[in-house]
Amino acid sequence: MRYEWMDAYLLKKRGVTKDYQPVWNWIRYHVGGKMFAAICLDQEKRPYYINLKLEPVKGEVFRSRYEDVLPGYYSDKINWNSIRPDGEVPDDLMKDMLDESYRLVMEGFSRKRQREILGITCCGTECYTCSCYGSICGGCNELSGKVFHAPKGKACPIYRCAVYKKYRTSCAGCEDLPCEIWRTTKNPELDEAEFEADIRQRMENLKRAYEDGI
Ligand code: SF4
Ligand code: SF4
Repeated sequence: MRYEWMDAYLLKKRGVTKDYQPVWNWIRYHVGGKMFAAICLDQEKRPYYINLKLEPVKGEVFRSRYEDVLPGYYSDKINWNSIRPDGEVPDDLMKDMLDESYRLVMEGFSRKRQREILGITCCGTECYTCSCYGSICGGCNELSGKVFHAPKGKACPIYRCAVYKKYRTSCAGCEDLPCEIWRTTKNPELDEAEFEADIRQRMENLKRAYEDGI
């Protein structure tokens, strides 16, 4: 197939898992337990369709423009599309379509669940890399921001602002980032240089998550 990059491209996205469904002979890609793309194989294990989701209107447009884009094989034919793996659909467009499929499935989850799937908090921290995670702290997403280092009984100020005040999934995409609240919620164990590096890392994490659709 011409899209040899596809497997690595999809597995690089946050929260993506892959399995093989032997009855259907499909390689499936999931996010949060929901499939967003599949490679349908023939008896010789050669790909004959790539299934993905598109906005129905967009699907119609691509089906009329490319004869290699067809209504979803063995799927809901309004939302799902099948792409011939050796057809004329350009690689860049194929990447855009896979991105859209991932985004559409992610959008089906609540914002809190999206952050859990992506393994990121609204301030860009990856709790699973923290030594407190699972011992003295259950994690920001799981505790809705009411972590031990937040004011007693309340969500931390960043969570309160991003989720409750601005109704955002996270600080990603906020025009004030990194704002005064970020500056005043400094981990006391970090010196100034470490804190600046931490802010840069969290912003980078959020940027990547934002590009992945949160
Ligand atoms: S202390 Fe808790 S909320 Fe903060 S990074 Fe660690 S696990 Fe996440
Ligand atoms: S102002 Fe923006 S960057 Fe600051 S905490 Fe609120 S959402 Fe996050």
